Amino acid sequence: MPTTVVDKVIEIFMGSKHERETKRLAPRIEAINALEPELAALSDEGLCERLARVRGEVQGGIAELPEDAIERRRQVQAVLDDKLVEVFAIVREASKRSLGMRHFDVQLIGGIVLHDGKISEMKTGEGKTLVATLPVVLNALTGRGVHVVTVNDYLARRDAEWMGQIYRFLGLSVGCIQNQMGDAERQEAYRADITYGTNNEFGFDYLRDNMKFDVSTMVQRGHIYAIVDEVDSILIDEARTPLIISGPSEISVGLYYQVDHIIPKLVKGEEIRDSYGNKSTTGDFIVDEKSHAAALTEEGVAKAEKLLAVPNLYDPTNIETLHAVQQALRAHTLYQKDHHYIVKEGQVIIVDEFTGRLMPGRRWSDGLHQAVEAKEGVKIEAENQTLATITLQNYFRMYEKLAGMTGTAETEADEFAHIYGLDVVVIPTNQPMIRADNSDIIYRTEKEKWKAVVEEIVELHEKGQPVLVGTVSIEKSEKLAEILKRRNIPHVVLNAKYHEREAAIIAQAGRFRAVTIATNMAGRGTDIILGGNPEGLAKAETDPIKDAEGYQNTLNKFRARHQEERKEVLGAGGLHILGTERHEARRIDNQLRGRSGRQGDPGSSRFVLSLEDDLMRIFASDRLRELMKRLGMEEDVPIESGMVSKSIERAQKQVEGRNFEARKHLLQYDDVMNKQREAVYRLRRDVLDGKEGRAWLLRAAHAIVASLIDSYCPADKHPDQWEREDLERELKDLFDLTLAQADVSWETVNRPRLEEALLVAVDQRFEERERLLGAESFGQLIRYIILSVLDAQWKDHLLALDHLKEGIGMRAYGQRDPLVEYKRESFDLYQEMMERIEDQVVQYVYRVQLKEAVPERRRQVSTREVKAEATGLQGERREAQQSPTTGPPTTIRRSTPKVGRNDPCPCGSGKKYKKCHGAMESTGA
Ligand code: ADP
Ligand code: MG
Repeated sequence: MPTTVVDKVIEIFMGSKHERETKRLAPRIEAINALEPELAALSDEGLCERLARVRGEVQGGIAELPEDAIERRRQVQAVLDDKLVEVFAIVREASKRSLGMRHFDVQLIGGIVLHDGKISEMKTGEGKTLVATLPVVLNALTGRGVHVVTVNDYLARRDAEWMGQIYRFLGLSVGCIQNQMGDAERQEAYRADITYGTNNEFGFDYLRDNMKFDVSTMVQRGHIYAIVDEVDSILIDEARTPLIISGPSEISVGLYYQVDHIIPKLVKGEEIRDSYGNKSTTGDFIVDEKSHAAALTEEGVAKAEKLLAVPNLYDPTNIETLHAVQQALRAHTLYQKDHHYIVKEGQVIIVDEFTGRLMPGRRWSDGLHQAVEAKEGVKIEAENQTLATITLQNYFRMYEKLAGMTGTAETEADEFAHIYGLDVVVIPTNQPMIRADNSDIIYRTEKEKWKAVVEEIVELHEKGQPVLVGTVSIEKSEKLAEILKRRNIPHVVLNAKYHEREAAIIAQAGRFRAVTIATNMAGRGTDIILGGNPEGLAKAETDPIKDAEGYQNTLNKFRARHQEERKEVLGAGGLHILGTERHEARRIDNQLRGRSGRQGDPGSSRFVLSLEDDLMRIFASDRLRELMKRLGMEEDVPIESGMVSKSIERAQKQVEGRNFEARKHLLQYDDVMNKQREAVYRLRRDVLDGKEGRAWLLRAAHAIVASLIDSYCPADKHPDQWEREDLERELKDLFDLTLAQADVSWETVNRPRLEEALLVAVDQRFEERERLLGAESFGQLIRYIILSVLDAQWKDHLLALDHLKEGIGMRAYGQRDPLVEYKRESFDLYQEMMERIEDQVVQYVYRVQLKEAVPERRRQVSTREVKAEATGLQGERREAQQSPTTGPPTTIRRSTPKVGRNDPCPCGSGKKYKKCHGAMESTGA
């Protein structure tokens, strides 16, 4: 097979690549070692002073940093590179004094690799926790914050406390984010030089920060440098897992029903013109069928206020209510049951007006669908709406510098490089690895396999050799435990649920006669010491905090016993790993094997499989089956062969490749929303910081004016054909402005003069209002309105994207590439959202009732955080092609053909008219 040759070549190449890398770093290791005598002679204070001096120099070197992220990273890196040797030597000295551990040379190498923003592959038990302290301290000297990311809360706490002794010794502060913490504690933890925490906490803090209304309550202070422990688990296995913050829309759900009741009490009126051309209205609202618009009259607003017992709908705090009233009015006046939609099984289903087809799953946006649901008295959907979401992958890609460590990265090196730009460097072990990895053995059936597994466990137990049995699921763990119980074999079962307790259990998996059953991930990050962990055993018996003296006695007792037990275990052959099924990825199998043979310990491993295992059934090649037939298979007689193991590995490689492709493909979908989120959050942040507000609003107002003129007074039409009334209506609606106020007379005006006059009038009106309230309060009000509208619209947009994604898979059956379609449509949706935001903000700013008081802070709605399962795309088949939209989204207002610019297409697609049946030209992005 040609692949074997290629594999060999790659292996040789990779081997030499890592060796070269290690060699390249050798001079620096020597330099660090050379500093040791000098530093060892210093007093504790002297050592701290030495670090403080370096810190001052680092701070000086980075006093002025460039805007450009890549440049910035380069500059900081150069400053720190200069100090690496000295700082690493200081950390090692501090570790010797505070923890009694001296970093091994290979650990120094691992530390340099991490500092370089790469992945250190170091086997289990090589002391990665300690390795991290080197680049952590070095990078913490910038004062910009270093994040160390762990897979669970327990490990974050353990490592922050454990390694915290070194940091504190050196005068650095360390914080640890824990799940139940409040904002104040989190802020403090993030303010520290070094912050430990789980991937979830970091991700959720980011999302929560971007939902806040006050910069001073934000907890994170940037994404500078992160070291991710167990990096393969976080950046590969969980990469696609979205973190989701959802909030009940109960408040608004209630609001839709409440508002719905008042609409039937309003009276439809009309617009009348007297003989002088002056317009006035009758009734409570006006419906304009032609442009598919409905609006309250002034009397209507007053009546609605009375009915809802709301003193002033145009008060900024009533933004939601006003919006709900407007949508309810449209639901009642413009959308007819059995024409625009039907109600079926308690659901409002949109009808495609042109084809008459039902469009289940589709929803009108911007609260219209909810308004129709309220009108029909059915349950309003979309409770627990997504307020914010990000995948772990995209969260970690935000860091200026990212690094990772794990025992198993190399098999996924391609993916790390491609997605994260992370190189993998395999660091040699401190002691030669002497674990014996045996070839797999295979039985015909699962039943035979389990029988053999149990026999082997019994045998090992009698011999006294500790065994760690790996299973692929909790179910299988429990099944095995059941059998062992019947056979009277003492054992413990772990299933990756209670991290702390499991860590305590697995720490003792190396005791004489121990039988431990665990799913692959259980107890990851916990060291298995042969002969047991005396500290853990002592802690279980005596509380070290309540009874320090007693603890010391117990510990001494266990330590003495530990030596004996360790000898026994070594004599029995060390820890044996018994795998009961191969995982799809070799990495996970290696992870399991890696629990044995730490720091030169003896040990062994073997996988016992059956032809009925999933991987074998689904992926093992016909060739493998052939091979096994040839070798002959009888009941209860297994086959053991290196060839079989190789074959399985090849199958695994194929699966890995396929999974990578799938993740890569999904990433392209994700990228779309990611860019949009970045743009929205950037605007949000600028508004919060006060960098944006007034200027943004005026830009939006001007863009709207230009777009109104394009729509209603196109250059290629004679002024007589302009849709003057529509223009007037929208001006009134958006800016509360009449043509008379703008000094425009239709008799004399031309297009440039019209535009000029409107812009001036819009500015003037703005300035008037600004004067009325005072520039500062008005600015605050504007920012408040932008944030409210932005958040509401973004939430809506997330929902729309979800629906788009669901539907887009179906397009694969047509001739179109779903990814390209998705990108184009989501880009359109984004543009529309931005336009809606501009329209609404402008409308509120020009129309809200101004009073001295500035709106109070928005209430905090209770939210829920979930880590969802990564979802694929339904019906998604085709491969991705290049994207029509690259770079961050921008908003360009397009001139629009008639029919209310922001009205949904009457066909009920939920899209705007212009984007749907009204689209005159294709919208290029
Ligand atoms: P890993 O994360 O690489 O699996 P850990 O960080 O959990 O390994 O460390 C494994 C064990 O090795 C710990 O008990 C730790 O105390 C010990 N250890 C690590 N580095 C050293 C060192 N330089 N000297 C002595 N013991 C060390
Ligand atoms: Mg670890």
